[in-house]
Amino acid sequence: MFSKILIANRGEIALRIIRSAKELGLKTVAVYSEPDRNALHTMLADEKVCIGPAKAAESYLSIPNILSAAEITKADAIHPGYGFLAENPRFAEICETSGITFIGPSAEVMSLMGDKSRARQEMKKAKLPITPGSDTIVADIDEAKRLGKKIKYPLILKAASGGGGKGMRIVRAPATLEEQFSIAQYESKAAFGDPSLYMEKYIEGARHIEIQVIRDAQGRSLAFGERECSIQRKHQKVIEETPSTFIDEKTRRRITKAVEDATSFIDYQSLGTFEFLVDEQKNFYFMEVNTRVQVEHTITEMTYGIDLIKEQIRLAAGEKLSLPQDLRMQGHSMECRINAEDAETFIPSPGKIEFLVLPGGQGIRVDTAAYEGWIIPPDYDSLVAKIVAVAPSRKEVINKMRTALEMTTIVGIKTNIPLHMSILANSDFKKGRYDIQFLESMLDKQISKRKI
Ligand code: ADP
Repeated sequence: MFSKILIANRGEIALRIIRSAKELGLKTVAVYSEPDRNALHTMLADEKVCIGPAKAAESYLSIPNILSAAEITKADAIHPGYGFLAENPRFAEICETSGITFIGPSAEVMSLMGDKSRARQEMKKAKLPITPGSDTIVADIDEAKRLGKKIKYPLILKAASGGGGKGMRIVRAPATLEEQFSIAQYESKAAFGDPSLYMEKYIEGARHIEIQVIRDAQGRSLAFGERECSIQRKHQKVIEETPSTFIDEKTRRRITKAVEDATSFIDYQSLGTFEFLVDEQKNFYFMEVNTRVQVEHTITEMTYGIDLIKEQIRLAAGEKLSLPQDLRMQGHSMECRINAEDAETFIPSPGKIEFLVLPGGQGIRVDTAAYEGWIIPPDYDSLVAKIVAVAPSRKEVINKMRTALEMTTIVGIKTNIPLHMSILANSDFKKGRYDIQFLESMLDKQISKRKI
């Protein structure tokens, strides 16, 4: 086992990792940018190193600065969390060559899965069903037009190096393809430094269903019950729950088995998530693999009673998977992502938290790095807290979550709690009837009502 882990991240996930590392008896090192000097992760780690100014490119994304911090503090492993360098194969490779363990899969697998177009080809070979679409990167607009005719509209253009919903454009008719193609290329070059695009059939009425999986170096793979992540705005998740009201036990068994086999096919070693779209007929289509821990891993932890980060750390140290193969989920869990943003305009609302009351009680878990007096810097993502509930049934989880949100008070910044409250009160949501377009259309309806 390692003796000291450096956490190359900030916010709630940095704290989350510090907690598990401490429970495993490991020393922890926090890295921080100047505005994060008083951030909770810097106070709760055993050691801390400033790695640069606010700009992520010069701090949390700076490989030399992070590696120097690891060397100075003699950390023997780095946990990247999510975002920042978590899915950067070059970082993983440099860690490996510097003799520091990168807590995640190999640089090779990360690079393969990081190119979404290549990942699709690989998963096709692994016999996972994939969305109809281009087999490789779409070279130019002429090829896009040809493929468009073959795949049929509507379709979706996606950035090969994409993530976070950026560089994605839905094209409903051939007439708009040319314009959307150049916008997507432009967006993806700006966000990822790579304009390469690929194309997929746009699946109407689909659900976003994902499978958490973990596989050790000895080749034992364990896939968990699905997470339903269809409550999204601008392709970004807002609420996640498990299990999905849409997936039956037979489908669940089929898909978890397929994912376990696919991890063996690519010799995946670590924690990861396979994302799928599921159409109304319950056909699964592979979308991508996230080679890191995800924000919503918490709901899987709550229904299985496990600690995925501890498991991920143990695996990186070469230990065998400690979880039994026949683990079963219990009850229902839901996560609301509380963001510092206006609930109607979605404009970010950084600033000082003047007063803070967080919920608690049986079945409630709050993962946050917020505290009274903390000034949320404008430089990073707007996630303030993850409120997670678990209860025997979905109905009870919704009631528990509503109560928890009612009891939450955050003064000084705006949050999207009112948005969560209106989703939780929606009758279709309560019945579990929703797809990936649900939230956007609910918001459209609210806007037109306001106009009347
Ligand atoms: P990112 O990595 O940028 O988050 P994903 O490929 O995971 O991108 O897609 C994000 C979201 O975009 C999905 O959860 C889904 O809502 C939507 N989406 C992606 N591909 C399709 C598709 N082929 N049809 C319909 N919706 C899609």
